[in-house]
Amino acid sequence: MEELKLYAMTCGWITMPYGFFMAGETGSLAIPIPCYLIEHPKGTVLFDTGLELPLQSDDENVVKKALGGFAELTTVDFVPGEDVAKRLEAFGVDPLKINYVINSHLHFDHCGGNACVPNARIVIQKREWEAAKDEENIEKGIYVPRHYDLGHERLEIDGEHDLFGDGSVVLIPSYGHTPGHQSLKVKVDGKDVVITADACYLKASLERMTLPDAMVVNDAQAMLNNFDLFKKLKAKGAFILYGHDPKQSKSLTDGSIRQITADTLASLS
Ligand SMILES: [Zn+2]
Repeated sequence: MEELKLYAMTCGWITMPYGFFMAGETGSLAIPIPCYLIEHPKGTVLFDTGLELPLQSDDENVVKKALGGFAELTTVDFVPGEDVAKRLEAFGVDPLKINYVINSHLHFDHCGGNACVPNARIVIQKREWEAAKDEENIEKGIYVPRHYDLGHERLEIDGEHDLFGDGSVVLIPSYGHTPGHQSLKVKVDGKDVVITADACYLKASLERMTLPDAMVVNDAQAMLNNFDLFKKLKAKGAFILYGHDPKQSKSLTDGSIRQITADTLASLS
């Protein structure tokens, strides 16, 4: 297996009803928007691209318009410099030279930055792409084509996929939050790191086996099965990086790009 480097960054924060992340909770929760950079000898990879640039606007109406149906339920904390392209540039990585973008799924907080990496090949589950092209889903505002339908080259996969053929970057199907959601397993210093994305929002989601409110669940049983899978992987020594866990995110990065090493992982509980 070739050596790779994994980096975490946070590309802004949003605040939404707590129940969107954990059923039964009231009030609101501020969540990080995480993206990951992977440097592999055979290519540079981004996992998720965060929010779209109009959400950085000072003009409330621009932000409202960009949020569409989520405007009433969402507060955005996202300033210039925090987007994925600027995070990469600050780290000395040219966004135009990113080879692959893996989108966990095509919701606005996961693919809003795809426009900034025009030369990347998008790696997406075939069934997610189909859901995102579905007229009814688009009309409901669940998927917004300007975020992802931008003419990128696309690698549509069906289930598990080993990106470089060496077991170091493996996509794992984790359908449930959306019809074609996927998570990622990365080998860092010989250890498995599982980036769940929205298959498991919070550390507490897994501990309590608690799903989000039904309105953000496409298939509840499938989501519970994903929890079981993550628990099994954790029991075998894998480190789990949750989709939007505020506390874990702060322990990984101050926002800017930070490498995740064996030491970082050892410090995670
Ligand atoms: Zn999300």
